[in-house]
Amino acid sequence: MKRARSMLPQAADLSASLLAWYGRHRRVLPWRALPGEAIDTYRVWLSEIMLQQTTVAAVGPYYMRFLARWPTIETLARAELDDVLHAWQGLGYYARARNLHACARAVVARGGFPDTEAGLRTLPGIGTYTAAAIGAIAFGCRAAAVDGNAERVLARLYAVRTPLPPAKSRLRADALALVPADRPGDFAQALMDLGATVCTPKQPRCSACPWQACCRAHARGIAETLPRRVAKPVKPRRHGVAFWAVNEAGAVLLRRRPANGLLGGMMEVPSTDWRITPWDDREATKAAPLKARWRRLPGTVAHGFTHFDLELVIFAAMTKAAAARNGIWVAPARFKDQALPSVMKKVIDRARRAVTAA
Ligand code: SF4
Repeated sequence: MKRARSMLPQAADLSASLLAWYGRHRRVLPWRALPGEAIDTYRVWLSEIMLQQTTVAAVGPYYMRFLARWPTIETLARAELDDVLHAWQGLGYYARARNLHACARAVVARGGFPDTEAGLRTLPGIGTYTAAAIGAIAFGCRAAAVDGNAERVLARLYAVRTPLPPAKSRLRADALALVPADRPGDFAQALMDLGATVCTPKQPRCSACPWQACCRAHARGIAETLPRRVAKPVKPRRHGVAFWAVNEAGAVLLRRRPANGLLGGMMEVPSTDWRITPWDDREATKAAPLKARWRRLPGTVAHGFTHFDLELVIFAAMTKAAAARNGIWVAPARFKDQALPSVMKKVIDRARRAVTAA
């Protein structure tokens, strides 16, 4: 039987039942203050930036290492960007690390975090969701922090069939209507926890859910089909060439990528532009960072970015050249000191294996 929207309990009852559930089942997370503990905005902010597009399990060790090395926003603001990028290695989406560093400097320059959602949104790397989460958790703003977990819970609670992303603004409005004025931070975290531990994408544990009795998707048996999503367009494929140059001392040529753009400021095995058409061998050697007898290594390196898939071929050469455009020579034992993104670690891995096998 179809349930009318008006049959849902009042917002206050829904939020009260969720908060009661949260009191019993809240996750213990390294960045989350325990009941009665003071909330540290720096920790809230640091964790929210790290959690953008990354799981709680993956973030945990990074968060602990960052906090040990830079225990306050002032220490992070004084850090070199390269050290921050290096410490971020493996978390991906490196623009977040650059923004983290820029944001720390901006916050220190203005004498602290702004205490409103609108103010927080003016800082580098802080968008709608992150501003709402920090505002609610650290400053008690009545804000709707709706991440992917919260979207899923709300889409099911109200049986929203409009797909994401068009449904986003409606779900945010639904969430805001539920946020209690006295505990917005707990409500935000409760919704995240419910989505992460009970209202999971597959096989939600409705019998453990505080909203089971009023959930429309559960009543209709369609929970697992929600939220719907607009079909993603097929990602384009781009092609590039990476140049593995080794000098007489066995050091390898690395280069820093331009500060702006994809993987900005990170180190790379020098590479061409990443373009739609594949590079032929003649073009590739012309684009090499130095003159040498380049040979193409077998195989390719594949890497997926958010908006495109990349396929890199590798050209290798031994060289006596002392210098190259913008490059530095790095002994393989010192690669670990360099801020190398995952795609370049794949290039290094394949080049070393191919050269050893030759
Ligand atoms: Fe999700 Fe089930 Fe709870 Fe509905 S009842 S919100 S589908 S866990």
